Amino acid sequence: MVFRFKKSKRQEHKEKIAQKMDKKISIAIDGPAGAGKTTIARKLANILNYKYIDTGAMYRAAAWKSLQMKIPLSDEAAIIEMTANMNIDFEDGDGSKILVDGKDVSKDIRSSEVTQLSSPISAISGVRKLLVAKQKSLSGNGGVVMEGRDIGTVVMPDAEVKVFMIASIEERAKRRYKEIIESGQQADIDDIRKAIEERDFRDSNRSDSPLMRAEGAVDINTDTLTIDQVVSKIKCLCDQSMK
Ligand code: C5P
Repeated sequence: MVFRFKKSKRQEHKEKIAQKMDKKISIAIDGPAGAGKTTIARKLANILNYKYIDTGAMYRAAAWKSLQMKIPLSDEAAIIEMTANMNIDFEDGDGSKILVDGKDVSKDIRSSEVTQLSSPISAISGVRKLLVAKQKSLSGNGGVVMEGRDIGTVVMPDAEVKVFMIASIEERAKRRYKEIIESGQQADIDDIRKAIEERDFRDSNRSDSPLMRAEGAVDINTDTLTIDQVVSKIKCLCDQSMK
């Protein structure tokens, strides 16, 4: 005699929900400088227990190293070769510590000199090709929150959740100003605004993978929202994508 165990509808439903809860998705967060991507992406990754990847830090690392090696921006071939030979590692799980060839450069890559140079360096196609390949391999099979300028369009076009995070230039300049003052340095808000506008222009107008909204991305303007409100909005998008 053969006994067959037939699952009840209720049991099937419960199992389906459990499977969905276990499913790890990919979350792409793009947007201009100062829109709040890093704070939000890191917090979200922490809540979901996902990997966090700051792709901007990788372009900053290339800019930092080219300054160290005194390679002029005009020597694209040397910058590409330097990038190909550079080892980048993220430590600490939350992606806050970045090592270049074993040296902790987490603080150095945030200087204004590196910040401004990272934008023209990232416009070099050979550099993008190398770093995008690394980012794709880091994205794995889900369970990742990745932020940058081309994540939803180029690096993870199949991400289940795509967000385009924006904020007014005034708000972004204010945030950056506060950050610099809090770190004990001097700052001029007009200079900061100009530098952000310049970077926005370059990032949005380069020929290779310019900053733009990915198809299917949801706009979130962070001007009047708290960090927790933005995180919870994205969390809702994740929940919806798993239904
Ligand atoms: O995000 P963050 O401001 O740290 O990025 C530094 C620079 O790296 C940006 O101004 C942009 O030019 C470049 N970038 C990029 N593509 C990414 C991430 C950053 O071109 N995915």
